[in-house]
Amino acid sequence: MMTETSRKRKRVVILGATGSIGESALKVARDIPDRMEIVGLAANRNAEKLAAAANETRAQSVCLVDETKIDILTSELEYKPRIFAGEEGLREVACLTGAEMVLVAIVGTGGLRPALAAIEAGKDLAVASKEILVMAGEIVMREARDSNVHVLPVDSEHNAIFQCLEGKHSLDVRRIILTASGGPFRETPRKNFDAITPGQALKHPTWNMGPKITIDSATLFNKGLEMIEAHWLFGVEMKRVEVVIHPQSIVHSMVEFADGSALAQLSYSNMCFPIQYAVTWPDRVPNSLPPLDFSKLSRLEFFTPRYDDFPALDLARRAGEIGGTLPAVMNAANEVAVAGFLGRQVSFQDIWQIVEEVMNRHTSVAHPDLDAILEADQWARKEAQGRVTSINP
Ligand code: NDP
Repeated sequence: MMTETSRKRKRVVILGATGSIGESALKVARDIPDRMEIVGLAANRNAEKLAAAANETRAQSVCLVDETKIDILTSELEYKPRIFAGEEGLREVACLTGAEMVLVAIVGTGGLRPALAAIEAGKDLAVASKEILVMAGEIVMREARDSNVHVLPVDSEHNAIFQCLEGKHSLDVRRIILTASGGPFRETPRKNFDAITPGQALKHPTWNMGPKITIDSATLFNKGLEMIEAHWLFGVEMKRVEVVIHPQSIVHSMVEFADGSALAQLSYSNMCFPIQYAVTWPDRVPNSLPPLDFSKLSRLEFFTPRYDDFPALDLARRAGEIGGTLPAVMNAANEVAVAGFLGRQVSFQDIWQIVEEVMNRHTSVAHPDLDAILEADQWARKEAQGRVTSINP
């Protein structure tokens, strides 16, 4: 007979299993085995790490996008799962029969098509990859509504907002207030920005994350992307999405309601909290994560962002307000500029400059379909790459 716990055990596919979010998701699965079973795992090219995750979880299906590394994957596997490869394999794993939820934790835009395929196959989505909502939030949310599946936010800020909004009417929301740590250069004078190295930018003060999102946290593009993500996830206009700097990263975001009351969600900065809640929602399940020790929280501070010194927030607001293909263009240009910075081809400040120039050259297409979005994405990548090359031929 099925017990209450086995009935509620969620069968989850992890796309991006070898990354920082993927690792945290594996920790959650280890921590609450009665509530989370991993049935599918996918990564891009890290065959060894994918095989290790598969050997531990005994996931029934495993996908490596880079087909040239499949031999390494098979030789490292200690059992015989179904093996998928390439982009098509990624979509198949996203639609796995028997899976109930797909956690999309692929950095960049590679998660968009598999996410849409998962929705079409009736799977709930747990979304870490904010890029897919920035690029195609209108389509993703519409498809999810039409297929009657849930989109559960994993980004800690959006997971916090999701928790604050539960049981509330969206008409009663006055403001969504996203908290931002401010990154490693929160107090660095603008005149010193030109000397910033990738090594310095990769040292995040409060979160341990993959390299792309860590640079985005330093430029504040991460928060800009999150403003647009919140707009789509919660159906709130951009003008009601605000940002406040909160260096301690304890308050993960807040919602202010029509009566002036604000609700917030608090925890230590550990992605296992939001991942677990996305998986067990609407239930609260005991785990081994440390709860807040309020006697040791000496202060929680909140500051207005330095908008002029960190132009990413204004660029993202503009992209979100104009909408159409402009957010996809901003996202793609930023991805190329960040890669250029990490490759030491352009400076930290060039990232904002490149994104702004590419956005200025784009004429946005309103309510784009997927093809128009992907076309804009490709266009922006080429434009941004051209700028990177012209700065550092
Ligand atoms: P990482 O760089 O640590 O990991 C990226 C993962 O994506 C890896 O598993 C990588 O595989 C896989 N991947 C990359 N490209 C492809 C592709 N084309 N097809 C399939 N898989 C691919 O990133 P993070 O875990 O930090 O971030 C993942 C997403 O989650 C991002 O969108 C980020 O913005 C978001 N996020 C991350 C947070 C964090 O704390 N890290 C917090 C909130 C959101 P391989 O290793 O084989 O290359």
